Amino acid sequence: MQTVLEVEGLAGGYGPMQVLWDVAVKVGESETVVLLGPNGAGKTTLLKSLVGLQPLRGGEVAFRGERIERLRTDQRIRLGISFMTEMGVFTNLSVEENLFLGGYHQPPETTKARAEEFLRLFPDLAAQRRHHAGALSGGQRKMLGVAKALVANPRLVIMDEPSSGLSPRFVGEVVKMLARFRTEGTSFLIAEQNVKFLEIADRVYVLDGGRIGFSGTVEELRQNEAIREAYFGLKGH
Ligand code: ATP
Repeated sequence: MQTVLEVEGLAGGYGPMQVLWDVAVKVGESETVVLLGPNGAGKTTLLKSLVGLQPLRGGEVAFRGERIERLRTDQRIRLGISFMTEMGVFTNLSVEENLFLGGYHQPPETTKARAEEFLRLFPDLAAQRRHHAGALSGGQRKMLGVAKALVANPRLVIMDEPSSGLSPRFVGEVVKMLARFRTEGTSFLIAEQNVKFLEIADRVYVLDGGRIGFSGTVEELRQNEAIREAYFGLKGH
């Protein structure tokens, strides 16, 4: 399998505080990798470092064989990386505007055609296409966030806690939706606390206290006593 993203020895932090230590992560072509970790583990900091929104203190980031850690965020996006923040959408823009923004760097006709495809798939969103995204339900907002992240046909989608703020029913819907789009040959790196996302994971990393404490398959994760207690004992999905 071809490697799409390769992170080595990544260090990061804020002011005097170091948050990430020697982080190594790999994502292969068409692979879905889930980055599990509790609140404050450093997941958001790591994802922001990968897309250039947070400066690195050390380490390397390669995307499809090319070193990208010195590139600006817009340059990384043009290479085919898409980032869905925890909020997912701009609440003060309309549904349509959010979708168009997701593909701002490609020809407008391409973005328009793909946005229409998504709107056909999600009649709920289509019915509210000119409404502010802030007026959507939490679940619809996430759907829009995923559509926005996918509208430019990226090679790699990086998602920060797509489950945040969602009821368990909507978490299930988002997982289902992602399962559907996984078949398109896109790779996903999803930071989550919710183990429901393991249903669509090919591999898992656990980030704890800023270090990768586990790396392996979902099956291996389930067999790991300490992790089972920490994640499956409490969350029990
Ligand atoms: P959460 O699920 O709560 O978002 P996380 O795993 O994404 O957790 P981060 O948001 O990356 O974790 O935070 C890691 C650590 O860095 C925490 O101790 C947090 O307080 C700190 N931190 C995050 N953002 C900043 C910032 N802008 N300035 C200073 N410290 C920060």
